Amino acid sequence: MEQMKRENPDVVSSMVYGQTYERRNITLLKIGLSSTGRKKAIWMDCGIHAREWIAPAFCQYFVREILRTYKTDTKVNEMMKNLDFYITPVLNVDGYIYSWHNESTRLWRKSRSPGTGGCTCYGTDLNRNFYANWGMVGVSTDCCSQTYCGTKALSESEAWAVTDMLGKMREDILAFLTIHSYGQLILVPYGHPNISAPNYDELMEVGLGAATAIKAVHGMDYTVGTSPDVLYANSGSSRDFARLIGIPLSFTFELRDKGKHGFELPEDQIQPTCEEAYAGAHHIITYAHDKVFYSYAVTVTATLWTTLLAAWVSSAILL
Ligand SMILES: [Zn+2]
Repeated sequence: MEQMKRENPDVVSSMVYGQTYERRNITLLKIGLSSTGRKKAIWMDCGIHAREWIAPAFCQYFVREILRTYKTDTKVNEMMKNLDFYITPVLNVDGYIYSWHNESTRLWRKSRSPGTGGCTCYGTDLNRNFYANWGMVGVSTDCCSQTYCGTKALSESEAWAVTDMLGKMREDILAFLTIHSYGQLILVPYGHPNISAPNYDELMEVGLGAATAIKAVHGMDYTVGTSPDVLYANSGSSRDFARLIGIPLSFTFELRDKGKHGFELPEDQIQPTCEEAYAGAHHIITYAHDKVFYSYAVTVTATLWTTLLAAWVSSAILL
């Protein structure tokens, strides 16, 4: 992150927006061209689950790609003018570092906060800890479980940090992308089987477009749907929270593979996984951008024509 800032000081800055249980900084990169107007935003976080190592790799790849291409690719350039990208390469920093500790910790998923009330296990599932139907389905109240949802919503400082940032930025965020593995899925809100997003059809259409873009890169199939439809019901996820507070486009990416290697994706699949996921993310971000900035352009143009027409009508007798 420091290197990206150093090499691209005009467009990259960073912000510490929280601390982990073990007092490490939670840092995001803000990437965009400076503008006098108020910019819209794209949110991306990776590594909320520690063992999903391909996710932080993807965030790094995404950052590199937009920085590599924005001067020459007209679309990326346009989006860098209108949008700021807020990218957290590793959200669950404690868990991620712990998963690198030794072979026995490689598959650690949760945060690293200790259990309470006599429970001797560690860690809360951060993606069950958000204030979004918290504790209702697909969670455990056993602190030893992989899906332990915590003592209450936002008991974890990492979930709180994201909640705080999203709350401050929610009117500006056009798309929220949270990156996981594995399963080759694009998940749309909501994780609760009885609740449907008001723009479900739009979410599915955009998600299916992303899956098509992904397939075009290396031929991999990604399935699109809500968690209960294509995976399992869950509540308290950051994706659901983002949609609940009004961010229109909210997606979970579950990157490669479909279970053969699972979380221990071989090294030679890192690059192709990132390449195809970039195409999927690019599709969603382009849609989010164009929806706001082109409908605005259309509105302005229509207003202009109406004005001209009115002027022409009022002056018609002179013609
Ligand atoms: Zn995950």
